[in-house]
Amino acid sequence: MIPLTEARAYIIERCPAPVPIQVDLTDARGLVLAASVSSPEDVPPFANTAMDGFALRAADTVGAPVDLEVAGTVAAGVDPIAEGITVAAGTASRIMTGAPMPPGADAVVMVERTEDIGDDRIRIEVEVPVGNHVRHPGEDLAVGDEAFPAGTTLGPGHLGVLASIGIERVPVWRRLRVGVMSTGDELAEGAGQLARGQIRDANRPSLLGLLGEMGIEPVDLGWVPDDEDAIAQTLVDGVAACDALLTSGGVSMGDFDYVKVVLDRIGDMRWMQVAIKPAKPLAFGLVDDVPVFGLPGNPVSSMVSFELFARPALRAMGGHTELDRRRVLAVVDGGLSRRPDGKVHFARVRTAVVDGRFRVVSAGGQGSHHLTAMAAADGLAVLPDGDGIADGEEVEVILLS
Ligand code: AMP
Ligand code: MG
Repeated sequence: MIPLTEARAYIIERCPAPVPIQVDLTDARGLVLAASVSSPEDVPPFANTAMDGFALRAADTVGAPVDLEVAGTVAAGVDPIAEGITVAAGTASRIMTGAPMPPGADAVVMVERTEDIGDDRIRIEVEVPVGNHVRHPGEDLAVGDEAFPAGTTLGPGHLGVLASIGIERVPVWRRLRVGVMSTGDELAEGAGQLARGQIRDANRPSLLGLLGEMGIEPVDLGWVPDDEDAIAQTLVDGVAACDALLTSGGVSMGDFDYVKVVLDRIGDMRWMQVAIKPAKPLAFGLVDDVPVFGLPGNPVSSMVSFELFARPALRAMGGHTELDRRRVLAVVDGGLSRRPDGKVHFARVRTAVVDGRFRVVSAGGQGSHHLTAMAAADGLAVLPDGDGIADGEEVEVILLS
């Protein structure tokens, strides 16, 4: 058996580097900037008001309340210069949020601090300083400022900023396409009656879902029987169409584990026994330079193996610099028991924050076939070799969401 850290490092080292491309902003969510982006424009582009109210000269409000003559209205989208609106001493322009400041004005009084006294006159009830409620050009971003550095994962806020500076195409690391195939003669397709000995394919939906959650394009390569030619064909087609492949099942020591046989023939594979539970067996290698992850068949094992190996490797391939999930220390409620066996165990747990502290409780059955507990879990508690963690003791937890 090899330690988890060794298997993880071996895999990440052999994965290809990310590929830089340009994409439309509308396709960029979740991708990572491949180069820094500087602002070609000031944001906001012109001085404007943050409030509905009156644009005026701050000096005219000294000794408020004061009455001013109303000179014109500036709505958002209107150019006061083109409209001939200027604010002279003793006057104020009605102005709406986002509208440009008219020439002559240096402050805004919000409408709630004024009273319409008729005859195109307005009573200003408060004294305001120069710049009151005025947003200045370039206040958020000035021309030439770095909006975001390379390595930024583009979330909704980033897309908004990039749109606000007129950027339609962004330099990013290409979104990955990753194929998933299931193997095993025992797998039944569809919802029909199961014959004795058959089970339904749980791994493909889980793995496709895990990929989708990461912002990767999942490619369903379907189910393949325990047949060497069929497995070889699906693998060859898969590597031609995808940036990486995930297989599940057929990589252990059984007589019909043909995935192992085929991958050894067409790929450059390493078969590992990792000192962890679940997910001890793992195959990783390259087929036509495309990374192939041979994940174990048991449903919980395939998901845990994905979390520990495929996820960080695929994040590296997608240009992310933070590869791993967050880890926190949590207090165990009810204890998490295990037996010494030379392996690190990953217990499926549910987390809660109570009085500002993380707490975890077992999510249910801890067998590698107990997929319901895996589905209910939002954390993997890291149990070092030994007898487990007693009730009330602390444990390190990988947060799954
Ligand atoms: P194997 O590695 O092929 O020996 O599979 C180990 C265990 O995982 C067996 O109990 C298989 O039936 C089960 N298994 C393999 N593939 C899947 C799958 N796609 N969905 C659910 N269980 C599976
Ligand atoms: Mg099998």
